[in-house]
Amino acid sequence: MMFDKVLIANRGEIALRVVRACREMGIGSVAIHSTADSDAMHVRMADEAICIGPPPSPQSYLNVAAVISAAEITGAGAIHPGYGFLSENAGFVQALEDHGITFIGPSAEHIRLMGDKITAKDTMKRLGVPCVPGSDGGVPDVEAALKIGEEFGYPVIVKATAGGGGRGMKLARSADEMETAFRTARAEAKAAFGNDEVYIEKYLEKPRHIEVQVFGDGKGQAVHLGERDCSLQRRHQKVFEEAPGPAIDPETRARIGATCAKAVGDLGYSGAGTIEFLYENGEFYFIEMNTRLQVEHPVTEAIFGVDLVREQIRVAQGMDLSFSQDELEVNGHSIEVRINAERVPQFTPCPGKVDTFHAPGGLGVRMDSALYGGYSIPPYYDSLIGKLIVHGRDRPEALARLQRALGELVVDGIETTVPLFHALLEEPDIHAGDYTIHWLEKWLEKNFG
Ligand code: ADP
Repeated sequence: MMFDKVLIANRGEIALRVVRACREMGIGSVAIHSTADSDAMHVRMADEAICIGPPPSPQSYLNVAAVISAAEITGAGAIHPGYGFLSENAGFVQALEDHGITFIGPSAEHIRLMGDKITAKDTMKRLGVPCVPGSDGGVPDVEAALKIGEEFGYPVIVKATAGGGGRGMKLARSADEMETAFRTARAEAKAAFGNDEVYIEKYLEKPRHIEVQVFGDGKGQAVHLGERDCSLQRRHQKVFEEAPGPAIDPETRARIGATCAKAVGDLGYSGAGTIEFLYENGEFYFIEMNTRLQVEHPVTEAIFGVDLVREQIRVAQGMDLSFSQDELEVNGHSIEVRINAERVPQFTPCPGKVDTFHAPGGLGVRMDSALYGGYSIPPYYDSLIGKLIVHGRDRPEALARLQRALGELVVDGIETTVPLFHALLEEPDIHAGDYTIHWLEKWLEKNFG
């Protein structure tokens, strides 16, 4: 089945990303938007646009009935969810199925399986993927939590089963800290996800965050597209991502990649997915799987020379993967930095009117952004306003290109996180690729604390 028209249930740079793929494939695109986004770039760039509600996301971008009506009114046979919003909402995927609309992504069943972190871990373990040691399943009370702490040794981390965005996660360094950690994680999980179930993992002291990009055809065939190192994080949120990972050699990549590809192939998984690991002392520990396109997918596109959104659309149409594992070869090095409308170093959101916007260009530079001069960034949504992605023959070239491109970028009228990246590029550890998931927080503390 070929799609005539795809509705994009998202906004900002990722909506543009999908419009671009559709246009290259000769497929029509439909933008949806809230009343706050009437002047947004995705509305201008798509073939058609339809307003689906007021500014707050629950009444617009997260409103399943409104999104489905928009698809029906415009005659769109398929929906691309982007990332965030409805992208990992199994109920939404189920509702689309009931309306005969194709979801560009995995099945509701696979989303559900991976959305619950305990069933995700159980599944991965069964499929031969190495996991972080910890409680097998939910931990009902403080007594049980203390027992787990005893068994695995402190420190441990209490995590929400329904977790996401780093919420509902609390560290216990000793038995004394367990009761507080357990109760706080539970309360946070309840508030954020309406589900207070928690589980416990051994806390890794100096891991890197390494994630493997996988792609399944839904018929049992799957490939991997190497890894991304996303260790530079603030409050468990990624800010700087690169591929290949500076700490991963080709043999290690082939080994963990093959494990991941086999696991998703065995599941019969369809479309793009990311298997996230913590990596310490040469060992991988699974933490979660994201059943969608990731914000940082462009670094993988750069080094493998493939269009992941095009591939998602192809697979959703029932086509085979357009590349085999043998054809996928790493070429050079790519880095992405996330540019947010935030004031550094407090990282307070800073929406408002952009007077001038000038995107950098030249060899090996890609700017994915929905900004334009005169645009007013509304205060209702995520503060990500652009992603600057560079590609070079090797890591030093990519870093030099990043510095050069950041120097060309102009965003006047609002504060952005660009100064953070200028400062990071002065750091020897960044040039050496020598950092763990705690590096950035410590650096911020030392320089701005
Ligand atoms: P979320 O879904 O909320 O993003 P994750 O399970 O993906 O939660 O974890 C997010 C981040 O939290 C990881 O990238 C890592 O920095 C940290 N983290 C999670 N589990 C552990 C652990 N067992 N030990 C140390 N750090 C962890």
